[in-house]
Amino acid sequence: MDPRTNDQIRTRLLRRRDELLGEGDVDIEPLKDDPTKKIDEDAAPLAEMEQVIASNRNRARAQQLQQIDLALVRLGEEPEDFGLCESCDEPIPMRRLELMPWARLCAACQQEQESSDAPGTRKHLTDYR
Ligand SMILES: [Zn+2]
Repeated sequence: MDPRTNDQIRTRLLRRRDELLGEGDVDIEPLKDDPTKKIDEDAAPLAEMEQVIASNRNRARAQQLQQIDLALVRLGEEPEDFGLCESCDEPIPMRRLELMPWARLCAACQQEQESSDAPGTRKHLTDYR
């Protein structure tokens, strides 16, 4: 990858990283810590759902930060290999790198990996029978 593109990717990664760090974790409010409040049976499942959504969001954010950090390391240590798909060694299209500068796989390989990781298709669940 030429040094100018390299700089562009680095800038994008750093900007996205700042955004994520600026957002901060979503507060997860404890459900049962308020003894003065009667448990509203209609509201409880909703509050629980909101907790799940918040913790999923926090987890996704932490994962993306990790991917960005890894991408920055790769960009610094192996600038020649950056932007090549780790599975098929083909260059990842610039359009994709602009949207997801931390991408390690081309769209085709990513899709393949995701479909084999999709819930319900995991093979190891049945391996123990
Ligand atoms: Zn690929």
